[in-house]
Amino acid sequence: MIKFIGLIGYPLKHSISPYFQQAALDYHQLDIRYEAWEISSKGLGDAVARLREPRNLGANVTVPYKEAVLPLLDEVDEQASLIGAVNTIVKRDNRLLGFNTDVYGFAQALYKEGHFEPEGKQAVILGAGGAARAVSFALVRKKVSALIIINRTLEKARALADSLKRYIRDSSLRSEGLKTSVTTLPWQSLTSPKTLDDCHLIVNCTTMGMKYSSQEGQSPLSLEVIPNHILVYDLVYNPWLTPLLQLAQRAGANTLGGLPMLVYQGAASFELWTDKEAPIDIMLDKAKEALQKFG
Ligand code: NAP
Repeated sequence: MIKFIGLIGYPLKHSISPYFQQAALDYHQLDIRYEAWEISSKGLGDAVARLREPRNLGANVTVPYKEAVLPLLDEVDEQASLIGAVNTIVKRDNRLLGFNTDVYGFAQALYKEGHFEPEGKQAVILGAGGAARAVSFALVRKKVSALIIINRTLEKARALADSLKRYIRDSSLRSEGLKTSVTTLPWQSLTSPKTLDDCHLIVNCTTMGMKYSSQEGQSPLSLEVIPNHILVYDLVYNPWLTPLLQLAQRAGANTLGGLPMLVYQGAASFELWTDKEAPIDIMLDKAKEALQKFG
């Protein structure tokens, strides 16, 4: 019997995950279809319940349901609970298990495509939503020396900083000994070049610059404030070269877009569903092709 894996989100019209996930399933000659399931918020409970049908293996979860899906699952793994967001559901023994592969996807892309070693470096995160939570936990675990969170709504940045500080404080109990200093700054501080002077890495975790959104064409930073020696990592993957990355290149910074992260998080999800090694190169090529054709 053919089996199914779904992508649960809204809207999904421009999603490219079905293209590169199907390419990976076809590479392994698995009789599985990966489908986009565009669901209104009213239908989320039913969509998750349908995963229990024998033909369904699991799902990816994307905007805006990564947080809302948690109470609908039988079990959520430690990392996803910590971040408060699930992007992958796997059915095992008819139980729905939640995982977050964004942390892995972010870190893998940073190493493999950005050639950046975070340990001992200073990082600035723009945003404090679900993606910022995953990125900040990843950077703390990779032992950045300092993390500055800058968000339009300062309260949300402070709440994220507080949970990171608790996590760092409790790390001695887990024998991890994490030491990152975490601070927050108001959004207006981004108009001063001094704010970013000492950082080695800036990660845009806001939605600014996303194609097909009201923020298409916008950049969170102006040319003048971007230091020239650093890595600017934009989680937005459509367009390939976002307004922020264009400015960063003009400023002489190194740049990394969000597409490799999308593929690496998808590869980790693929391995959870299928127990097979994800064909990363095929998935990356297909994702680039899909972005050019349909993005
Ligand atoms: P989210 O939870 O909705 O958070 C959005 C963030 O953007 C918030 O911090 C929000 O600030 C900020 N923001 C929105 N409009 C803004 C504006 N005009 N000016 C300044 N800040 C603004 O979204 P998310 O799930 O974290 O996703 C964020 C981005 O990351 C999206 O573009 C998503 O596609 C991308 N992403 C990419 C990957 C990947 O694999 N490449 C994975 C996950 C997410 P407030 O708190 O003030 O509202």
